[in-house]
Parts: sequence; C-alpha cells; structure tokens
Amino acid sequence: TPLAKDGAVAVIGLGRFGGSLARELAEHGVEVIGVDIDEAAVSEYADIIAYASRADATDEVVLRQLGIDEVSRVVIAIGSDLQASILAASRILKLGNRHIWAKAISEPHAEILHQLGITNVISPENDMGRRLAHLIRGHISDFL
Ligand code: ATP
Repeated sequence: TPLAKDGAVAVIGLGRFGGSLARELAEHGVEVIGVDIDEAAVSEYADIIAYASRADATDEVVLRQLGIDEVSRVVIAIGSDLQASILAASRILKLGNRHIWAKAISEPHAEILHQLGITNVISPENDMGRRLAHLIRGHISDFL
C-alpha cells in the first residue's frame, strides 16, 4: 500500500487524458498515484509514475487502501463511463479531499459533477476547440 505524501497527486483513470496528465506530472517530479480498473492501462504507466494500481475507484474501501484519503489533490479522469465517474467523484468528495478536478465529456455530465460539489470540472474537447479557435484567429491576423 503506497504511503501518500502531501505533494502527491492521485489520478483516477489512466486513459488518454489521465495518462498524459500523469506522465507530465511525473516528468516534473510529482509523485503520482495512478488508479485504473484496466490492467493494460496500469502496466503502461507502471514504470512512469510512482504508484500504478489496478483497482475500482468507485470502491471507498479500495480508495482508502491506496491512500487516496491522504492525498490533497485528486483528478478524476474517467470520461465515458458516466456511472463510474459520478460514483468515484461521490466517494472522493466523501473522503474530504480539498482539491478535486474532474473530467466531463458532456454538458449534463459537467452539471452533475458541479452539483456534487466539484468546482474544477474540465471538458478537454470543448476547451481545446476554443483554444484552437484562438490559435486560428491569431494565424489569420498574421495575414491581415
Ligand atoms: P480518454 O479520452 O482520456 O481516453 P475517456 O473519456 O474515453 O478517456 P474512459 O475510457 O471512460 O474515458 O476512462 C478513462 C480510463 O478510466 C480508462 O482507462 C478506464 O479503464 C478507467 N476507468 C473506468 N472506470 C474506472 C473505475 N471504476 N475505476 C478506475 N478506473 C476506471
């Protein structure tokens, strides 16, 4: 069982979003505790992050066993499985962590996460679309 320190960040779900987040944090010296229900995702990050565990993040007992209750920053990076995202968010809020970020894949998903009490809801596709619009506008203005 990993002993979490205060500088650690827990990443729940090591898909494309959670995985690249976990990797980037680890490369900058952050102790990352990664959790994924899928063994292949866990193996992919085993040598990259401090702790990679195969576990169901909707299970409160499991979250405590992994030391997530001692981590002050948690990112819920589960997208398409709405039920798993909401259950994990509910459990992690219950642990009393202070800083929680959660990924949403739709507007209703984002709204539910907000209603649960998660203030930092991220919608990567929407955010990237807006960012690209600004980049393209900047590109156009180069020719004006
Ligand atoms: P991405 O675009 O980042 O790949 P996605 O939006 O398609 O992600 P999912 O594939 O649903 O989202 O979830 C990302 C990761 O979360 C997956 O690797 C999946 O195995 C993991 N995951 C799903 N449910 C759980 C769970 N209950 N506990 C832990 N991990 C889970």
